[in-house]
Amino acid sequence: MAQGNIGVTSTNIFPVIKKFLYSDHEIFLRELVSNAVDATQKLKTLASVGEFKDELGDLKVRISIDKQKRTLTVTDRGIGMTAEEVNKYINEIAFSGAEEFVNKYKDNAAAIIGHFGLGFYSAFMVADKVEIFTQSWKADEKAVHWSCDGSPVYDMEDTIKADRGTDIVLHLGADFDEYLEDSKIEGLLKKYCRFLPIEIAFGKKKEWKDGKQVELEEDNIVNFVNPAWTRKPQDLTEEDYKDFYHQLYPDQMEEPLFHIHLNVDYPFNLTGILYFPKIKNNLDIHRNKIQLYCNQVFVTDEVENIVPQYLTLLHGVIDSPDIPLNVSRSYLQSDQNVKKISSHITKKVADKLFEIYRDSKEDFQSKWEDIKLFIQFGMLSDEKFYERATKFALVKNIAGEYFTMDEYIAKVKEQQTDKDGNIVVLYTQDPDANYTHINHAKQKGYDVLVMDGELDVHYISQAEQKYQASEGDEKKGMLRFARVDSDLLENLIRKEEAPKMTLSDEQQEGLRKAFEAQLPKEQKLNYYVSFEAASADALPVFLVQNEFMRRMREMSAHQQGMSFYGELPEQYNLVINTNHPLIQQLTEAMTSETVLETPETKEGEEPKEAVEKTVYTLTGKDDRLAELVDIAFLASGKLKGEALSKFVARSLELLK
Ligand code: ADP
Repeated sequence: MAQGNIGVTSTNIFPVIKKFLYSDHEIFLRELVSNAVDATQKLKTLASVGEFKDELGDLKVRISIDKQKRTLTVTDRGIGMTAEEVNKYINEIAFSGAEEFVNKYKDNAAAIIGHFGLGFYSAFMVADKVEIFTQSWKADEKAVHWSCDGSPVYDMEDTIKADRGTDIVLHLGADFDEYLEDSKIEGLLKKYCRFLPIEIAFGKKKEWKDGKQVELEEDNIVNFVNPAWTRKPQDLTEEDYKDFYHQLYPDQMEEPLFHIHLNVDYPFNLTGILYFPKIKNNLDIHRNKIQLYCNQVFVTDEVENIVPQYLTLLHGVIDSPDIPLNVSRSYLQSDQNVKKISSHITKKVADKLFEIYRDSKEDFQSKWEDIKLFIQFGMLSDEKFYERATKFALVKNIAGEYFTMDEYIAKVKEQQTDKDGNIVVLYTQDPDANYTHINHAKQKGYDVLVMDGELDVHYISQAEQKYQASEGDEKKGMLRFARVDSDLLENLIRKEEAPKMTLSDEQQEGLRKAFEAQLPKEQKLNYYVSFEAASADALPVFLVQNEFMRRMREMSAHQQGMSFYGELPEQYNLVINTNHPLIQQLTEAMTSETVLETPETKEGEEPKEAVEKTVYTLTGKDDRLAELVDIAFLASGKLKGEALSKFVARSLELLK
């Protein structure tokens, strides 16, 4: 038996490995199984180039547990190691055998994993003692037994081993009972090794028979050796992509909307498949994450630093040997490769979306509502993506027709340009609530967009900022979005100078007080009365909400530093249409009747001012004011509960 010191500069590397190198103990299994798969792949490579001439036989990697002996064993029938190789690859641990092998067999060894540096030694994170039994594929080499108890001293001796390949035996430490549990190991294998290219067997398949679980002859294979992303897109059908989606997320019932197959070999290596899920609500978003692999070994599903944040809404896999692993997150962010990968994925995703849009508009439109959130998030957070996405990001009008923003602007430009050359896009966030306003807009020949998405308010602001008047435009106006109920239509798209106000200041003041007396008093909600000389066929009284203030409030819900707007009370304007016959009647009544009917002045009270008399006259006389205010609320979908039932009762009264 030979003894020696493991060739590391520090006298004891194991405490370092145990404590600092890997934060997750469980990855030891990933490392050992990767090595076993790696050794098997190497043997296949040697066979393919004719250097290995014997039978390859069963090449499964096997994982087994012995609860009595407290051991976990990883067995392969790969190339094995000679004593010299154990010395070189295990004892001089800084040396990575994979690198040398890849250099030698560059063209054939693409599938070699060995990217994790100190992989084998991670076994000491959970084991008090590790043994290697290995028999090289080279016929005349002796088998080797190596063992080490976690000190820098190892034992090495010749041994007899019947089969080619390597057994790594871990004598688990007292704190690591969990790795003796079948369910734990199967779970880890499914997490880290689900898509490794060599079959991995963990025990035998089981079946329920007569209420009992019985073991079958067949090996329990935990992985899929040919995952879709490693195959050529032209060899895959739609079904294959869907099947793979379900291999990736066994709990997911829903089908993805579409997929993107990534395949890059220059200037970095990257393959993968990304899927667009249906995103219904926020809860869905973080359920299935993109998984990152390194040569088919699962690395992480925390990809926030590798792909832009909006892309984390997608599902699927990314596999790249060029993403540095086992390094800190801040390092990842500054890594040049990672940056390139991120911008490449962005481009691919945008190109693919455009392709789908171009080739099958109807299909794309039918899926639009499900991908809208993702695309708008991308456009808002990534300038490059924005530029690409303007070609396929859609808006929908109340008739259910879809347009790109450019198409839409071209459609409404003629009708909806105001006297200063500004193009005004009308929209609604709730077609039912805005029914009256929408109808009015339609009558005028205007179109209305439906903007009821979570990010629409931000999207609108972005579209306004990005808009540039085209060369041919006479007046270089701006693009403005206005919710259809944010003011009278005549004001939203002003075609000519505002008509002159016909009411005197006193008349206005009188009406204002009279109407104010009818408005509900609510906390965090202010109502103001204002006057407009709108058309005679518009409603006599309108409720509108200032576009700017409302948008600021809505945006503050998503954006930090905007809470100021969120705290302000909501504001509505009750607009009195002074051209409406009913309002004109009221004004006349007010002017003629105030003088006649004066409210009684109680003893000791000052005589009431003219304005107050008006209020008294108008409100005291009949219910028309209250009715008009209610109608304004009703037309905006704001009349609810008690107010609504009062309105109904009063309306019935008026009909008598
Ligand atoms: P890496 O995998 O990064 O090279 P490891 O410490 O995991 O680092 O392994 C060091 C070397 O030991 C490997 O490159 C390989 O040459 C050899 N080795 C490890 N496990 C096996 C195995 N099961 N069969 C054959 N060789 C192995």
